Amino acid sequence: MPLLRPPNRRFRILLVEDDPAWQHLVATGLAEHGIDVHGAPGVARALESLEAVRPDAVVLDAILPDGNGFDLCRRIRALIGELPVPILVFSGRDDEASIERAFAAGAADFFVKSLQWKLLAERLAQLVSAAQMRTELASSQRRLDRAKGLALLAHETARRTRELSSSDPLTGLLNRKGFLSAAQELLDAPREDPAQPAALLLIDLDRFNRLNDTLGAAAGDEALKEVATRLRQAFRNMPGIVLARLASDEFALLFPALRTAAAAERAAQIAMTELSRPLTCGGLDCVVRASVGLATTAVPMRADALLAQAGQALSAAKSLGGNCSRRFQAELGHADRERFDLEAALHQALDRHELVLHYQPIVDPRSRRLAGVEALMRWQRDDRLLSPREFIPIAEETGLIFRMGEWTVAEALQQVRRWQAAGLEVSTVSVNIHARHLEQPELARAVSQALDSTGLESSTLELELTETGVMRDIKRSLDSLQGLKQLGVRLALDDFGTGYSSLAYLTQLPIDTLKIDRSFVDKLGESGQSRAVVRSITALAQALGLSTVAEGVETRAQLDSLRALGCDEVQGYFYARPMPADELPDWTRRFDGTVPGAVRTGPGVALRAVPGAGDAARRSLPDDPAGTLRL
Ligand code: C2E
Ligand code: MG
Ligand code: MG
Repeated sequence: MPLLRPPNRRFRILLVEDDPAWQHLVATGLAEHGIDVHGAPGVARALESLEAVRPDAVVLDAILPDGNGFDLCRRIRALIGELPVPILVFSGRDDEASIERAFAAGAADFFVKSLQWKLLAERLAQLVSAAQMRTELASSQRRLDRAKGLALLAHETARRTRELSSSDPLTGLLNRKGFLSAAQELLDAPREDPAQPAALLLIDLDRFNRLNDTLGAAAGDEALKEVATRLRQAFRNMPGIVLARLASDEFALLFPALRTAAAAERAAQIAMTELSRPLTCGGLDCVVRASVGLATTAVPMRADALLAQAGQALSAAKSLGGNCSRRFQAELGHADRERFDLEAALHQALDRHELVLHYQPIVDPRSRRLAGVEALMRWQRDDRLLSPREFIPIAEETGLIFRMGEWTVAEALQQVRRWQAAGLEVSTVSVNIHARHLEQPELARAVSQALDSTGLESSTLELELTETGVMRDIKRSLDSLQGLKQLGVRLALDDFGTGYSSLAYLTQLPIDTLKIDRSFVDKLGESGQSRAVVRSITALAQALGLSTVAEGVETRAQLDSLRALGCDEVQGYFYARPMPADELPDWTRRFDGTVPGAVRTGPGVALRAVPGAGDAARRSLPDDPAGTLRL
């Protein structure tokens, strides 16, 4: 689910850049993505043109002929005040100091100069959209405040007085009593536009008790104070809202009037995102996740009833494993109910052992050896075997993907041990990991636990992360990937070529493998462009010392092209479809032409083979193994 919607019109940026070549490149690159660029070659012209251009966002170079971008950023921020105009620093340098200076000067983001126009356009669209959303929420509050006028002022004063006796000493927020009475007052207040709903968000921290038990109550208190600060900060420019701590780790927010009910869901996302950043408590970096229940009403109602509805929604979010938000629904429609059932069933699937891994061989086409296997998840739901495409998106939305990812790592490594016991030595098992999982410290813990308990070499495990996911928040990804790399596991960028990797970052990522996306392999025969893409990916990989795996190889022609283009390994129906674990030994024997008995060495599979049997078996394989080996 996208966090923010894109602005619903073309928008305009002011580009402060002295180099005419970059001016031209940016203007043409962004024009294609619906962004008009007005140029200013330096500080003075930028300040002059602000009023005339009225940009939706400002993009500025860090080094300018008549000053520097950071000072200019600060001056623009001071000039535009509360106007929702994000500033993005576009720089040739990406050292820590420049990035820090940019943020300290009030920049909303930092982008390293590259030709990735789609990525830059998306980043700008997100920034503009976020800024607009905050203003929309704030302005609907202000309209309401105006309508209430003096009456509100009187109420406010009374409320503030009561607040003093109804506040939570730890966080300084309202307590439950204070919240209910302040919320009731706002819900009863006359509305400028009766169609504008009020929304109540009930936020509960996931597994807070565990944090409290492990680190102690003082650390728990520290975490709660930080949560209060972050919520206050996140919604600071929405003056009419009420924020409270209702119980130990339960916070509530009331928005008296929102433009649409959907705005409440965006507010829930903002709260969850704010709280998902690691916070320091007891001297340690902790990750606290939150679940949100939300309820809206367009008619006056009792605050405690609205709170109860948000409570029901919160229970639904918790029963889905937490780290997600749910909205109260009196009557679920048919599609909603089906979806809800699927979510609930998926939640139980892990405990009921309904998730299974199938394994697809990855082959070195030159030596015709098994180089490794990729673990791909399936869900055995009653008599149907569901494909990951049907349930992974739900797992991502509900946060279940984290538990599932940790299970997959453990199960795949145990499977390697089981194969070993049966005489099949698999050197690498690749596991798909969702990019958001990278931010969770539990992932590294689960990986090292799984490696310890199986006693396997760390390099047996390769974690596959999609290129798009990693690049979405490259700074965070870099840190997390480096942490994982220290454990000694291999790292691969999956579906490579479909995202927008900045070359500068690619060189910094501690990865071992690029997995060339199936879409390029698919069109190898018919499109010169795909051939050129594959050629440049393999050249890039060679230059960076990375290995390449081509996905989705279905025909001999594709295989031959890939071999000619220098691709190291391939995976696809041409050799084998993903198969249950117990079928792999048999497949390998038929493929390799080997049977248990003697030891074969090499980087791929080492099989004990009966001397002589291999050749005979190999001879019996047809030229196109796909015909016999499809499983
Ligand atoms: P992926 O990681 O890129 O996996 C490759 C997909 O391509 C697999 O689909 C595989 O069955 C399919 N494939 C392999 N060879 C061929 C071929 O020759 N032709 C065609 N048409 N397809 C081929 P699958 O198993 O349906 O998985 C789809 C995606 O779901 C995976 O793409 C991965 O992104 C995700 N996924 C699967 N298992 C997991 C998991 O355990 N965790 C996470 N987070 N994602 C998973
Ligand atoms: Mg994969
Ligand atoms: Mg892939």
